[in-house]
Amino acid sequence: MTARYVHDFTEGNKDLKDLLGGKGANLAEMTRMGLPVPPGFTISTAACRAYLATGAVPPGLFTEVAEHLRRLETGLDKRLGDPRRPLLLSVRSGGKFSMPGMMETILDIGLTDVTVGGLAAQTGDERFAWDSYRRLIQMFGRTVCGVPGEDFEAELSGARAAAGVDSDAELSADQLRHLVEAYQKVFHRHTGEDFPQSPREQLHLAITSVFRSWNADRAVLYRRQERIPHDLGTAVNVMAMVFGNLGTDSGTGVAFTRDPATGRRGLYGDYLPDAQGEDVVAGIRDTVGLRELERRHPRCFAELMSIMDRLEHHYRDLCDIEFTIEHGKLWMLQTRVGKRTPAAAFVIAAQLVDEGLITTDEALRRVTGGQLAQLMFPAFDLAATPEPVTTGVPASPGAAVGRIVFDSAAAVEAAEPVVLVRPETTPDDLAGMIAAEGILTSHGGKTSHAAVVARGMGKPCVCGAAAVRIDPDRGRLCVGDTVLTAGDLISIDGTTGRVYPGAVAVRPSPVVRYLDGELAADSDPLVAAVDRLLRHADAVRRLGVHANADTPADADRARRFGATGIGLCRTEHMFLGERRSLVERLILATDDEQRRAALDELLPLQRADVTGILAAMDGLPVTIRLLDPPLHEFLPALDDLVARVARAEALGRDPGRDGVLLAAVRRLHEVNPMLGLRGVRLGLVVPGLFAMQVRAVAEAAAARTRAGGHPRPEIMVPLVATVRELDLVRAEVETVLANVPDAPPIRFGTMIEVPRAALTAGQIAEHADFFSFGTNDLTQLTWGFSRDDVEGAFFSRYLDLGVFGTSPFETVDAAGVGALVELAVRRGRATRPDLTVGVCGEHGGDPASVRFFHTTGLDYVSCSPYRIPVARLEAGRAAV
Ligand code: ADP
Ligand code: MG
Ligand code: MG
Repeated sequence: MTARYVHDFTEGNKDLKDLLGGKGANLAEMTRMGLPVPPGFTISTAACRAYLATGAVPPGLFTEVAEHLRRLETGLDKRLGDPRRPLLLSVRSGGKFSMPGMMETILDIGLTDVTVGGLAAQTGDERFAWDSYRRLIQMFGRTVCGVPGEDFEAELSGARAAAGVDSDAELSADQLRHLVEAYQKVFHRHTGEDFPQSPREQLHLAITSVFRSWNADRAVLYRRQERIPHDLGTAVNVMAMVFGNLGTDSGTGVAFTRDPATGRRGLYGDYLPDAQGEDVVAGIRDTVGLRELERRHPRCFAELMSIMDRLEHHYRDLCDIEFTIEHGKLWMLQTRVGKRTPAAAFVIAAQLVDEGLITTDEALRRVTGGQLAQLMFPAFDLAATPEPVTTGVPASPGAAVGRIVFDSAAAVEAAEPVVLVRPETTPDDLAGMIAAEGILTSHGGKTSHAAVVARGMGKPCVCGAAAVRIDPDRGRLCVGDTVLTAGDLISIDGTTGRVYPGAVAVRPSPVVRYLDGELAADSDPLVAAVDRLLRHADAVRRLGVHANADTPADADRARRFGATGIGLCRTEHMFLGERRSLVERLILATDDEQRRAALDELLPLQRADVTGILAAMDGLPVTIRLLDPPLHEFLPALDDLVARVARAEALGRDPGRDGVLLAAVRRLHEVNPMLGLRGVRLGLVVPGLFAMQVRAVAEAAAARTRAGGHPRPEIMVPLVATVRELDLVRAEVETVLANVPDAPPIRFGTMIEVPRAALTAGQIAEHADFFSFGTNDLTQLTWGFSRDDVEGAFFSRYLDLGVFGTSPFETVDAAGVGALVELAVRRGRATRPDLTVGVCGEHGGDPASVRFFHTTGLDYVSCSPYRIPVARLEAGRAAV
C-alpha cells in the first residue's frame, strides 16, 4: 500500500492547507460548495517534501496521478493525448501560505503536433488551437526547461512585424502555426531535444518542475522576507483547462469582494476579454472594469456577484478570486481570503461585525497593533510626489518635511521644522533627533542607532542612503547632480526610504487626529472602525496601559491616547538645557555646603516639572524614576573640553571653569559607564541628591492636594541589584516624606533591570510596593549586549545567521529575559501578594511582547505615547 499523495477536489476542504496548500484547499472548498470549478486533483505538499528530500519522485506518485487522471477523463469524456478529443490540463503551484507569482504554473499541458488539430476540430477554432500550443511551448520551455523567455519574445515580435500587426490577437492561424515551428526550434536549440510530444511526459515534467520551483531563488527570498518556513513544500494542482481565449464571448478576470485598499463595498476587479489568465498578470493588454463585464455578460456577471456574496458569507471575510468565462460560461479558478491594507483591515473587520458575520472579539483578532501603528504615521500625498533623488533604508515609517540641519545643536535651535542629516547618529544627537521632524543618514541599516531611536520616538527615518554624500563641515550634501545646503527643504519617506528635494505635501493621519480629539469618531469609516475596536480592546483587556512621559505635553497626549497613568517619568531630562550649569555645580561641589546650595536651587525647578505632570495626570498614578544616567552625561564632552582648555592655554589665558570641568570629567570618566556609577548607586554616593528629588515630588503633590487635585505620585529607584540598596534609599525617602506636610501617600518601588534583582525579587519585594521591569537594561545585562554598540556591530549578521529572528531589544526574548520576568513576578508576589508589576522598557509597545506580558500576568505595560493605542489594541487581542 503506497502513501496517498493525491486528493480529488471533491475530497478536500479549506482547512487542509497544510496538506493541499492554500490554492488546493480552497479549490476543494469551492467544489464542495457546488461552485463551478473545473474538475481536478491536488498532489499534496508531502509529495513535494519527499521529492525535495530525495531528488526523486516518491514511488507510486505517478500511478496515483494516473488513476485520478482516468477519473477526470471519464467525467469529461476527453483524454490526455487523444487526437480527436484531447484533454488539456493546468499544473499549478500553491503552498500553505500565498506566495503570489513566486512559483510556477503551466497551462495547456497536453498539446502536441497531433492534439493541436484535435483541439481545433473540437472547438472549431484553428487560430485558438495554435495560439494555445505556442503558449504551452513558451511557458513549458521557460519554466520547465529554462529556455530564456526573451528568445520566445523575439520570435513573437518578429511574427508581429512580419504580419504587420501590433497585437498577438491579430495573428492569424497560419502565422501562429509558423510561430509554433519557430518556437520548437528555439526549444531544440536550448535543450538539444524536441519539444516533448508525449502529453504524459509533459505532465510529469511539469509536476516536478513545480516541486522544484519551491526552492527557486525568488521563492526563497520571499519566504525569508515573509517569515514563511522553508520546509513546508508546495502542493501541485492539476485541473482541466477552461478557455478564456475562445473569442469575444470568453475572457478572464480577477475580483475582490471588497476594496482591498479601503475596505469599501462595491465592485473591484479587472476583466480581460478573449484572454488566458497569465495575460492579466502580465499586463499585456488593458483590462476593463467589472461594469463592462456586466454589459457584455449580464448572466455571468449576476452569477459572479452571487458567488462572491456566498464566498464572503462562507469565509466570513474579504475574498479575492480568479475566474474565466468560456463561451459565456463562468468558471471559478481560485479564491482565498485576500490580502489588504491596514486601513482596509480595520474597516472590513468592523463591517463584518455590523453584517453579523463575526463577533467583535473575532474582529479584534483580525487587526494587529502593527497595522494600527502604520495608520498613525503621516503620509506623503502619493498623487503629489515627484521623483525621489535616492532611496535609502526605510528605517522608521512616516513622512517628514523640513529644512536641512547638519547637527544636533542646529536642530534644537531651529525655529522651523527641520530634518536632521548626519552620516550616522550617536547618543549625542538625541536632542537633535527629538527636535527634528525626521532623520536622514548615509550609513547604517535597520538596526543602526538612528533607526532604533527614531522608531522608538515614532519619528520618520531613512538611513543608509549611501548615494547621499554628506559634508557637515561645509554644510552641504550631494546626491547625484543635486546639491543641497543647510536650510534647504528636504522630504523623506521612512515608509519607502525615498528622499525628495524640496517640500512634498503631507497628509496627517486621520487616526491620530481622532485620538487627539480633532476628529469625531464617526467622521469616516476608518476612524469609526479604529474607535470601535480600540474601545472593545479596552473593555476586554486585563493589562493596563501606561505611558513613558517626561513632560506635561507628553503626559497630555498620552492621556488623550488612552494611557491610564505614567509608568516611567524620567527625571534626567529635567536636568538638561540651561539647568546643566546647576548640575555642574552639584558635581563640582567640594563640600556639603556647596552641594546643598546647588541642590537647593534644583529643588524648585524639579518641583515645578513634577507639578505640571501631576496636573496633566490628575487622579492617575505617575511613577517618577529617580536620577538614572551616569553624571558625566551632564558635563561637556571630554574632547570639547580638552580642545577648549588647550586653546585657552595656547593664548596664554586661564582656562578657568573649563579647567575645573575637565578635571571633573576626567575624575568621572568610566570605561564602561553603563555598568558604572548610575541609578541607585548615584543616590547612595551623592549625598542629598535623591532626597532633593523626593522632596520635590512630595511638595508638588502636597501643593496639588491643597489645591483640590488628586495627585498619585510614586517613587521608583533604578538599577537596584540587592535589597540592601533599596532599604537604604527607602529609609532616606521616609525621612523626607515625614517632613512634608499634606503630602498624599506616595508608593515606593523599584525597577527590576539587573538580573540579580530578578533573581532576588522575593527579598526585594519586602521593600517595594511595586516592580517595574526595565526590559531594555534587563535585556542588555542578561545577554551581555551593549545596547548602544551591538546594533551596528553584529546584529544584522546575527539576524542573518538566525541567532534570533528579531532583535531582543525589539521583541522581548521570552525564553531568557522573559523567564527572568516570570520568576521575579512569582517570587515578588510570593512575598507581597498585592505587589503591582509593570514593564516600562520599549517592549511595552511591541505587539509580540505585549502578548507575552499579558500571559505573564503583569498589571500594566508602559510605552511611549504613540505606542499607547498599539498596546491597548494588542492587550485586548491577547485577552480574546
Ligand atoms: P498564481 O499562483 O501565480 O496566481 P495560478 O496557479 O493561479 O498562479 O495560475 C495563474 C493563472 O492561470 C490563473 O489566474 C488562471 O487565470 C490561469 N489558469 C490556471 N488554471 C487554469 C485552468 N484550469 N483553466 C484556465 N486558466 C487557468
Ligand atoms: Mg492565482
Ligand atoms: Mg534602565
